[in-house]
Amino acid sequence: MEIFTMIDIVGILGLPYPKHNEFSYNIHCPCCDDPQDPRSKHLNINLRKNVFCCPKCGLGGGMFDMYAYFANVPRKDVYKDLCWKMGRNLDKNGEPRKAVPIIPPVPEEVESPLMDVESRHATYTALLSRLSLAQDHRENLRNRGLTDAEIDRLGYKTTPVAGMSMMAKQLRSEGYYLAGVPGFFRKESGEWTFVHEARGILIPVRDQKGLIQGLQIRRDNTEKRKFRWVSSTDRKDGCKAEGWAHLAGSVSAQMILTEGPMKADVIHELTGISVIAVPGVNTLTQLKTMLEALRKEGLVSIRTAFDMDFTTNYHVQNGFRNLLSLLDSMDFKFGTYVWDPRYKGLDDFVWEGMMNKNRGAGD
Ligand SMILES: [Zn+2]
Repeated sequence: MEIFTMIDIVGILGLPYPKHNEFSYNIHCPCCDDPQDPRSKHLNINLRKNVFCCPKCGLGGGMFDMYAYFANVPRKDVYKDLCWKMGRNLDKNGEPRKAVPIIPPVPEEVESPLMDVESRHATYTALLSRLSLAQDHRENLRNRGLTDAEIDRLGYKTTPVAGMSMMAKQLRSEGYYLAGVPGFFRKESGEWTFVHEARGILIPVRDQKGLIQGLQIRRDNTEKRKFRWVSSTDRKDGCKAEGWAHLAGSVSAQMILTEGPMKADVIHELTGISVIAVPGVNTLTQLKTMLEALRKEGLVSIRTAFDMDFTTNYHVQNGFRNLLSLLDSMDFKFGTYVWDPRYKGLDDFVWEGMMNKNRGAGD
């Protein structure tokens, strides 16, 4: 029976091949994925274990089960059918088969493919509901101009320091996916847990529908790389965070574009204007995806509002040029916000202005 491997079956069935070096990848699930949406890919094929599995609908089994399902052949006839096809070296359309790619050597630590945004949102929402926001963190956010109601609605929390395995266990028992959700991974014992990060504020990074795509951390007591992604890359069954763009507010014709999801939330709450944030000016891949979606919903013009010191850094200047050429190539109208350079960010400037006005009104 060992003469067949999963990749043979994939080839014979004409299913999508993995990318180079991938041994675990997802394809469209014929059982539960929306046929109108070819991008929904819940069915995981594992070339190392020779199994397939859809965590959403439960379709799965060994490679012969997969062949039986896709080729619509009774399970007992699969072996015979495969021998015939392989022996004659024809594919399912009767064409000569393409060369079978060689399966790359498998690294020890296995990562999970990224879960869809709805599932990530559900898991992160359940996770955040179990966490609290420390008083010093609440104070920090108030000092940026956010009210308590806004802070709670946005879902900011303090990074957990203990009890991560217990929390992961509870989430799993309630049916939330942990595989494919950055931050979660398996310990040596096989038990699921969540990454232990330096203390800081957890920031939900949301898409245009308000769904949490991933989490960022604003780390306490550090000036270098203050913001980083919650990620469990290089961990067993862990998952890498992508450089997601964030939307604060609802879609409108004119929006502001800035750097950092927390800054975007603050500018939006202070001004009422909807704000898009890139995690960094050199991280534009996910921004393009978001802008395409926003354009369909009516976004026409964009004002960039990067911190006033951005012009002094060559690396940042370069990224900013790429950003503007992306906006230009997508046919957006765009301009730049300029404010009093004594204030580093637009959020600082607006907040200070509001404080002065309030002081004036009180006199
Ligand atoms: Zn399925």
